[in-house]
Amino acid sequence: VNVYYGIDVGGTSVKTALVSEFGEVIAKRSFSTQASTDVRNMADQMKETLHAMLVDTGISFGAVAGIGVGVPAFLDVSAGVVISAINLGWTNVPLVAILQDVFHLPVAVENDANLAALGESWVGAGQGHGCVLCATVGTGIGGGIVLNGLLFRGVNGMAGEIGHLVVQREDGYRCNCGMTGCLETLCSATAIIRHATELQACGQIPSDAVLTGAQDVFTLAHAGNEGARHVITQAASWLGYGLALTATTLNPDMIVIGGGVSTAKNALLQPVQAAFERYAVPRVVDATSIRLAALGNDAGVVGAARLSAQQRLAHDRRV
Ligand SMILES: [Zn+2]
Repeated sequence: VNVYYGIDVGGTSVKTALVSEFGEVIAKRSFSTQASTDVRNMADQMKETLHAMLVDTGISFGAVAGIGVGVPAFLDVSAGVVISAINLGWTNVPLVAILQDVFHLPVAVENDANLAALGESWVGAGQGHGCVLCATVGTGIGGGIVLNGLLFRGVNGMAGEIGHLVVQREDGYRCNCGMTGCLETLCSATAIIRHATELQACGQIPSDAVLTGAQDVFTLAHAGNEGARHVITQAASWLGYGLALTATTLNPDMIVIGGGVSTAKNALLQPVQAAFERYAVPRVVDATSIRLAALGNDAGVVGAARLSAQQRLAHDRRV
């Protein structure tokens, strides 16, 4: 039985897992990136982590058929190069070459939100659905599209980047991508906290309320605070609107919402569904289910393993 080494590189930690060819997580470990985001240092830690998991599980190195890596970045997938990963401070990093040098195994690299989508469509909330749109709502908003089990990347990897749909055409907030008015400036965790902090400054949210995460705002809303409820309603409305625009283009049968903000579960899902029904054409609404992600923090590493397996299959077919 083949196993795959799935890696999900984030701004604060690197999550890794050994994943079977059937999508089971056999072992997982993570390490912090707070101290250093130096790519070679990180590659060495990835190798140590793999060996530790092989020792723990009694699996031999020879059973590891490949490596998949997700990075929060714009990438040139075919060249294996990270063009720009703002949170990591990486520009034009030849990640695939570096990791192949360390591991001597096939390495596949992809945007982290695309891999979360691939993982969810493989063995998560999108399993069994032919056209899956997955939105990862956290610090920013990522997105990915999976058609019949395969990632749909578009011509240069930007397909499904719903966080950067410009939905506020004038006077929008500045986005990390350099534009203004992007969807993620209105309904990411960052946006929810910013909006709540604004309402706190004008007295609509209690001055002693601690607003460090989006969950704090959901908790206040649940307790009946009108200001917090307004913030959540607005954010959910924007997200439902963005999903409606995307679904009207793509006509998916399943939309999966993951990421940190999705831990609010029905407090997010219900108002998003309502907005979706308001802004998408009825025939699209009828065909589309919206569900919360099922794999939690494992979506990225599971999707990374899947990508590696698919790369291997494609290679075997060619030779
Ligand atoms: Zn943007």
